Amino acid sequence: MSIDFTKDIGFDKELTSPTFVSEDDGEVSLRPQTLSEYIGQEKAKGNLKVFIEAAKKRQEPLDHVLLHGPPGLGKTTLASIIANEMGVNIRKTSGPAIEKPKDLAALLTNLNDNDILFVDEIHRMNRSVEEILYPAMEDNEIDIIIGQGPSANSIRLELKKFTLIGATTRSGQLSAPLRDRFGVILKLELYEPEALQKIIERSAGLLKIEIDKGGSMEIAKRSRGTPRIANRMLRRVRDFAQVCADGVITREVADDALNRLEIDHLGLDAIDRRLLTGIIVNYGGGPVGLETLAATINEESITIEDVYEPFLLQQGFLTRTPRGRCATRLAYEHLGIPFDAEPSRVKGVIDGQQKMDI
Ligand code: ADP
Repeated sequence: MSIDFTKDIGFDKELTSPTFVSEDDGEVSLRPQTLSEYIGQEKAKGNLKVFIEAAKKRQEPLDHVLLHGPPGLGKTTLASIIANEMGVNIRKTSGPAIEKPKDLAALLTNLNDNDILFVDEIHRMNRSVEEILYPAMEDNEIDIIIGQGPSANSIRLELKKFTLIGATTRSGQLSAPLRDRFGVILKLELYEPEALQKIIERSAGLLKIEIDKGGSMEIAKRSRGTPRIANRMLRRVRDFAQVCADGVITREVADDALNRLEIDHLGLDAIDRRLLTGIIVNYGGGPVGLETLAATINEESITIEDVYEPFLLQQGFLTRTPRGRCATRLAYEHLGIPFDAEPSRVKGVIDGQQKMDI
């Protein structure tokens, strides 16, 4: 007995994707500029405050910083804030955008004293490019090769003192030599609803959206612990509030809008439910390997790992074991499937729920 999960479910994936989509264009204006405006992440923020103050006192650049955590949690925002707080310029690029060693050399030689180079998705940097970074990070110098073949010459260039800020969703994929060269490693965690509520209220203020406490908490609880999703939901719910209500986002308005957008009351979207249902129906609750699961629900394994799993793990719906992913009792309960049901009965339950939104 199995269910075909591969057909498209028509759910708007952009709404709950934590990665940047065109709809987030207005995001820049929502970005906090200073550490005191940056809500939540108290541990990372507290440490950073100390390091920034110490570097400023010594009139030195900040040590190289690695920011890691799922997408949409505020890594890019934090990098700009660090530049602001240090009073220096920031150049932004990303791992895949730096194709050749000479591209990185050009970026590095153009930096001024104490400037920040921000490299997003640093785990996707080419190995030959990465090797240029080692002496740059350690000794502020790079070796570049001029010419080709037997007449090729290596010359050493002195760089200004700079800070590299790397951001990654997958710190495990960073090579050890690169990771070891970061003096400050900060892990960003999914946000608690209370912090997200503050972020939503701040964004609503900036976007001149009327929202009450009930409304902001409802969106906060349903935005997967991720500020980018919270801001996006706020904009979508505003549309409903303006068209279907009197423009004010209350708990009822937010609840109604998010239900229509297929976000359930714990913030699971159609794909989360499909993933959990897939494990339960097709693999008796697991364990099931990531690749097999990805093929079953027709998603990329990387998307499952980066986008869906962090939230489902945090909420206790999923566990990762050496033998694969398992759905927890909580997942069964949330989906309304009896935990101890015979596998043959599970399909009946699902069918009874009009196959949920599979
Ligand atoms: P990442 O680089 O981790 O993918 P971003 O820095 O682009 O995430 O953050 C996404 C959006 O979320 C930003 O535009 C910003 O408005 C908002 N945001 C992130 N973290 C915070 C925070 N701590 N306080 C307020 N807004 C935040």
